Amino acid sequence: MFSYRHAFHAGNHADVLKHTVLIATLQHLLNKEAALLVLDTHAGAGLYRLDGDYASTSAESADGVARILAASAPLAQALQDYADAVRAFNRGSAARVYPGSPFIAQRLLRAHDRLKLCELHPSDARALEGNVAQLEAGRQVAVLREDGFEAVRKFLPPPARRALLLCDPSYEIKSDYARVPALLQEVLKRFPTGVYAIWYPLIARPEAHELPRRLKALTAKAGKPWLHATLTVKGGKAAAGAGGERRPGLPASGMFLVNPPYTLEPALRAALPQLAELLAQDRHAGWGLESAGG
Ligand code: SAM
Repeated sequence: MFSYRHAFHAGNHADVLKHTVLIATLQHLLNKEAALLVLDTHAGAGLYRLDGDYASTSAESADGVARILAASAPLAQALQDYADAVRAFNRGSAARVYPGSPFIAQRLLRAHDRLKLCELHPSDARALEGNVAQLEAGRQVAVLREDGFEAVRKFLPPPARRALLLCDPSYEIKSDYARVPALLQEVLKRFPTGVYAIWYPLIARPEAHELPRRLKALTAKAGKPWLHATLTVKGGKAAAGAGGERRPGLPASGMFLVNPPYTLEPALRAALPQLAELLAQDRHAGWGLESAGG
């Protein structure tokens, strides 16, 4: 069974990037009345306590969401929307509860939209089911204790022909790096007009560097537009255990989108420089944004 538990990392810089992109994408898609299907292949527990045992073990949120909420300068719109989403789950100015992708999405969805959440880890799935039950969302939200790479295929194409898929594995199993492009290839065949959002870690591993290249190549082959956003908060090696006082941690991550809303690129162009500045841990911090038409 997996050892990765998202509770250790909730609200870190990777979550800030991922959830900022998720919110901006959803906001655009929800401008249309027709029902939207949201598929979350790797849902996690849904809600996390930032003052709980897991989160305080690493305190990654202190260098992530906490810095956004504490920012004194006005935030770019996409970051403001992210901060508002987190604040909606908290009283007061600090975040004690962090909403994962299921709760971020559900808060924005309308009654006729649908959210399918896949989570394979037994205790995270149990926590997710408990958290979702409290929403009393009825048929709007379904939790599946299934392999997300497999389970989502059966929902595509969706009846209303509108879907957003978030694929957010932990990549602790090396095969995730191969399963992600295989899934994208399959869903693009099943439902070419879906919006597909994939998160990945930018770490010193050949598979991690190869992944965006593979995603770009297969998206271009399918004749679809893509957008690729990256956020780096520190150098890969410089921060690794310096003086023993700091855990190495993840230096950077990326979001790759297929069929991105046209509003996403300008929104991220405004938000990413500020995000990199606010979350910088050393002089290697930076951001990237590139895209290509179909
Ligand atoms: N998407 C969540 C969020 O943004 O709040 C975080 C997800 S976390 C990075 C990845 C999750 O995927 C973990 O909770 C892990 O237990 C789960 N997982 C790992 N492999 C899986 C699989 N094949 N299918 C479904 N869930 C899986």
